[in-house]
Amino acid sequence: MKVCTQETAVAEFPAAWQAQYGHLPDSFRFSDGRTLGGIREDLRSATAAEHIAAIVHLSWIEPPGCDECGGDGPTVQLGDEPDHESNTAWICGGCLRTALDALEAARG
Ligand SMILES: [Zn+2]
Repeated sequence: MKVCTQETAVAEFPAAWQAQYGHLPDSFRFSDGRTLGGIREDLRSATAAEHIAAIVHLSWIEPPGCDECGGDGPTVQLGDEPDHESNTAWICGGCLRTALDALEAARG
């Protein structure tokens, strides 16, 4: 179980970015015309969420939304560590409370 907030997403961003683009050369060009090398340079001094979001898509630093209600994070990651075939869910606090209430009601 892991709590997923914007702060954790920002903290995990460098490793996630490296995993996605680390194998590509600086000359790699995105559809908007920017090069990977230029983005890497811009990211060197970007540590705050608003700085990172101005350089890359906001989704990189947003916590996953809730798989139960579709709402925005923060959420708790439950199940397997996420990968292509994992059984992982991200659930918000409201849905966790509803689930706990349902469990309590079921116990009678
Ligand atoms: Zn929810």
